[in-house]
Amino acid sequence: MLSHILRKGVLSSNSSTLIRRYASTNGQQTVLVVLYEGGEAGKKNKNILGCVENALGLREWIKENKLDNRLKLVVTSDKQGENSLAEKTLPEASVVISQPFWPCYLDQTRIDKAKKLKLAITAGVGSDHVNLEAACKRGITVAEVSGSNVVSVAEHVVMQILALVRNFIPAYNQVVNGEWDIAKIADKAYDLENKHVGTVAAGRIGLRVLQRLKPFDVHLHYYDKFRLDKSIEKELNVTYHSSVESLAKVCDVVTINCPLHPETEHMFDKKMLSLMKKGSYIVNTARGKIMDRDALVDAIKSNHIEGYAGDVWYPQPAAKDHPWRSMPRHAMTPHYSGTTLDAQARYAAGVREILGNWLNERPQREEYLIVDKGKVVSRAYTEGDATKGHSEKK
Ligand code: NAD
Repeated sequence: MLSHILRKGVLSSNSSTLIRRYASTNGQQTVLVVLYEGGEAGKKNKNILGCVENALGLREWIKENKLDNRLKLVVTSDKQGENSLAEKTLPEASVVISQPFWPCYLDQTRIDKAKKLKLAITAGVGSDHVNLEAACKRGITVAEVSGSNVVSVAEHVVMQILALVRNFIPAYNQVVNGEWDIAKIADKAYDLENKHVGTVAAGRIGLRVLQRLKPFDVHLHYYDKFRLDKSIEKELNVTYHSSVESLAKVCDVVTINCPLHPETEHMFDKKMLSLMKKGSYIVNTARGKIMDRDALVDAIKSNHIEGYAGDVWYPQPAAKDHPWRSMPRHAMTPHYSGTTLDAQARYAAGVREILGNWLNERPQREEYLIVDKGKVVSRAYTEGDATKGHSEKK
């Protein structure tokens, strides 16, 4: 368990010889790659691998390995609606590569359309944009680059906890706006020391958040379906809770680090929020739909929850009028915590590794597999469909 959680997901490239051999014996297959637009930054900076312009390094990889006859790449950011390039390419795609930052939602309807689909790869961590139940039924393999951006996210969580508790955003805004009103900022600024901080899930990210917070001399808490090793609990001096409710009641700060699946969807609804301590904070870098969007806005507006931060929204990209953009006392960012330049190098290499293994009919790393041979094989997920209710559940 410990070695599984602590493994960094170090990535290596593949044997190009094997790929070449396989490439010459089969017909061309379509790989649909859905990524965000790079714009000016993407054109200038080749290390922004996660954008359309740089395509996870796949164009160069295909060239190097002489796979042009074998693979047809369709790279696009156009993913919404029936006339989008993604939707039009689905019927011919054997592989869909997408990323949580700009997800190509593979719901039941799209999976029905994608008759040739065999493999869905997440460039990053978190495969909730795929209807896992439908993937199981169709025998589609779902794989992600586990571990590739977990440090990146854990650092973001610590940054956002501090931003909220120390009231950073209003303080920064004063500087930009030419103001100097110390009392107004101090009115809601605290030290983190001695506060109770709890994580919902202590997997790769949750555990790293706990480790990074330990030197702040806080009281640490966690809830997870699986308990950490006793030795880790002791080393971190962390209290285990057997339910989210129990953790929510005692914490000044709750950070959410579990995957989105039918058990965790709207885990933080009106009732759960009401159980939280008055004046507490939430940092959610897991998935937007783990929160009930409107219940959170109400809890913030009524001052029951003091502040909210994170980088995940539903759906993504977030609408211009998404209520979290304008609610009081938030420190939200667009979804980028797991797509630092360091993380991009790791998950792009991981995607190429998974694609190469698939082409060569080599086994995938066990920890990368979410759905395999008609079953959910990752213990972090349950069967079911977290893509459902796009319109009704926000
Ligand atoms: P992980 O698989 O290492 O850990 C997930 C943990 O969640 C496991 O310990 C599992 O037991 C626990 N869990 C699952 N369902 C649960 C439930 N119902 N109740 C309690 N615990 C439950 O995954 P990870 O690498 O730590 O990533 C966690 C999630 O963070 C991802 O699934 C993804 O949604 C999100 N994430 C976000 C970003 C970002 O850029 N914001 C990047 C990476 C991952």
